[in-house]
Amino acid sequence: FNFFAGPATMPTSLLQQVSDEMLSYQHSLGYSVVEMSHRSKDFEAIMEHSMSTLRELLEIPNTYEILYMQGGATLQFSAVPLNLCRFDKNETCDYFTTGLWSKKAGEEAKRCFSANEDGPQQVKVHHLNQQSLTQNDSATKVHIDPNTQFVYYCDNETVNGIELKQPPIDMIHPSTKRIPFVCDMSSNLLTRRINITDFDLIYACAQKNFGIAGLTVVIVKKTLLGKAPKWIPSLLDYKVIADGHSLQNTPTTFSIYVADLMFDWIKNQGGVDAMDELCKAKSNKLYDFIDNSNYYSNNIPKHIRSRLNVVFRIKQGDEKLETLFVKLAKERGLIGLDGHRSVGGLRASMYNALSMTAS
Ligand code: PLP
Repeated sequence: FNFFAGPATMPTSLLQQVSDEMLSYQHSLGYSVVEMSHRSKDFEAIMEHSMSTLRELLEIPNTYEILYMQGGATLQFSAVPLNLCRFDKNETCDYFTTGLWSKKAGEEAKRCFSANEDGPQQVKVHHLNQQSLTQNDSATKVHIDPNTQFVYYCDNETVNGIELKQPPIDMIHPSTKRIPFVCDMSSNLLTRRINITDFDLIYACAQKNFGIAGLTVVIVKKTLLGKAPKWIPSLLDYKVIADGHSLQNTPTTFSIYVADLMFDWIKNQGGVDAMDELCKAKSNKLYDFIDNSNYYSNNIPKHIRSRLNVVFRIKQGDEKLETLFVKLAKERGLIGLDGHRSVGGLRASMYNALSMTAS
């Protein structure tokens, strides 16, 4: 069992297919996907099929564009503010930080704003600790400036084991008229049903729940395209990517091919509802075990516990025992159970392809 937080385990059947097709795509073409021109009809078919399956799986309306980009989820930390802000005086953007990845995204947004005379203070960071996420207290509700270009959050904090599971509307003061949510779903896109129209933009890297590293999917409202200032790099401009059908330059052809197979695999398993059931079954099994133990612990309030990344400690943080645990677990075929280097402890990441039965 591979519990790494990403790149993650893949379905064995799919790896077998990739291996079988490595020399000759679909066993008949006589050459491999890795040798295929991205301008060829064969690759175009892979692109189209993958995007239409993704659209179907997540019920993405035609008012949203699907973009395939590179640079991982991290490059979206810059692409989002660069595309959605014009960097004039009155604009702001709001970042809800619930863990490491949303914190990093806020820092990158500040960097993007730092060339501006009004500077990084236009990026408003709201730290949501576990207490504020648990209390429904009107005093802690965040006021969103009417000039905000977007409200950013990360739905699943991979390192901290926190999953909001819905846009944090409850955290926002009811006087706010419009909430253009931008969401990092890098570690939970395609693991449950979502209402796309709740969002202006969603992005996710592929290497956790739908493939291998290299591909980042961006789902963006079409009305937001073309807002970016002229000076941003063209390959970061969502409109350039949309107009070029994500083939503006050579895309990550192999990662797109694998994602295409993963989308079909998810569909054949029963779609995102089936993934949700599986994620809940896996994580609940572990959370129940931890909660019934005096040895292991997880102190995250139940309603914001992640279905994908279960973080836990031994004896509230005995590092020696945790190191021993990782070693002994590995000897028994359970790999990747160490916590992220920034927080320590233990973590079991259980993405779409992790089966409950050993292969
Ligand atoms: N956002 C989240 C929620 C993540 O879990 C990760 C990686 O683990 C990233 C962003 C960064 O992704 P990448 O390494 O593709 O840049």
